[in-house]
Amino acid sequence: MRASGHAEGAFRINVAMMLFMFYAVAVWYGAVRWRRSWLGFIWVSLGCLGVLALIQFHKLLNLWTSYDIYLPVLQTLLWGYISLVASVGYFIASIPKAIQPWCCRKCRYDLTGVPGFSDVCPECGTAFSPETAYAAERRARSIAEAPRPQRQARKPRDMAEVLGHTSLSHGHSAANQPPHAAQHQDA
Ligand SMILES: [Zn+2]
Repeated sequence: MRASGHAEGAFRINVAMMLFMFYAVAVWYGAVRWRRSWLGFIWVSLGCLGVLALIQFHKLLNLWTSYDIYLPVLQTLLWGYISLVASVGYFIASIPKAIQPWCCRKCRYDLTGVPGFSDVCPECGTAFSPETAYAAERRARSIAEAPRPQRQARKPRDMAEVLGHTSLSHGHSAANQPPHAAQHQDA
């Protein structure tokens, strides 16, 4: 009975660790998703508030249970956890989004195909640099010239054709071929 109780305790610890891991990943995912916007910073802050609430709850739990299950190490772990979630979260949230070379420097509007008609961004009216125009034109051309995926209907293969192909590697498969097919190929 002792052994099974021990295993159950280990299982609970594992589940708790998984929950903490998923919590951190959820916070960081939001930081990536809404980075460089207030939403990202608000999201990470809410995530930290959640951990703070848990720290407070743990303290209250100690008071309510008259320090029956007080685990000071858990407080230390939680403070370490919250600083990790916060530092990584705020770091991710402040990573700038890459501006593609064919996008407007000011509003990030995709200028692909625009330079042929205009020399200002149609979205915000900012004149774009020759480098941006060049990149946008190149991108438009590469899209126009990209080979379209050809969807070829598979031709029905007839037996003579199949045998004709195998006769190309004559040395290997000549012995396997029926004699009349080989003659047909020679004629
Ligand atoms: Zn613009």
